[in-house]
Amino acid sequence: MTEDLFLGDSYLRRFEARVVELSGREVILDRTAFYPGGGGQPPDKGTLGIGPVRASVVDARREGGEVVHILDNPIPDTVRDLKGELDWERRYAHMRHHTALHVLSGVIWRNFEAKVTGGQMRAERARMDFSFPGEWTTDVVGEIERLTNDALSEERPVMVYELPREEALKNPDLIRTQVNLVPERVRMIRIVEIEGLDTQADGGTHVANTSETGQLEITGHKSKGRQNKRIEFVLR
Ligand SMILES: [Zn+2]
Repeated sequence: MTEDLFLGDSYLRRFEARVVELSGREVILDRTAFYPGGGGQPPDKGTLGIGPVRASVVDARREGGEVVHILDNPIPDTVRDLKGELDWERRYAHMRHHTALHVLSGVIWRNFEAKVTGGQMRAERARMDFSFPGEWTTDVVGEIERLTNDALSEERPVMVYELPREEALKNPDLIRTQVNLVPERVRMIRIVEIEGLDTQADGGTHVANTSETGQLEITGHKSKGRQNKRIEFVLR
């Protein structure tokens, strides 16, 4: 099992770890700050190295309980320890967009009773899909933008904690965001809560306060059927 350092500290950008398995361009470490991708957030990039040995991490993926780092070049199989460093600018941009998606999700539920059906973030943009019951006009989209920016500028703390599964299943916000889809074997569920706005079961990385997110600008919206709407945005 890889220890997921990014779950405890999403701001950790450098770390040291022991090599568990090295095969060609693939490395498994005993612990890592590299997010392996999931929940709409892309895997991290960065570097792994020690002394003169150095390789870029071009991709990462989760395999069972382990995180597999994919390198641009194989490193010698005599290496036992490695230092890792994230492409921090890229990762921090994911954290900001990820947090903005939570705020957007909270606002469209609070103000429009619309449920999120999907989301995806990149370093320079993000998008969210939801089941929107009302008419999908430029006015409505403008209002969503305004309300979301109001919520972002309220400097709301983003809290991360764990709840026992039984307790999580009693929380209506978590039910709405489908906490029941978390595999049965997971007894303690990681919760990400934006105070007073949005609570979700979530394994991704976020900023600590919405003040770090900045303001959002909706750059596109479309209707993909009566219930299926999409918003695309950038952060300013
Ligand atoms: Zn999240």
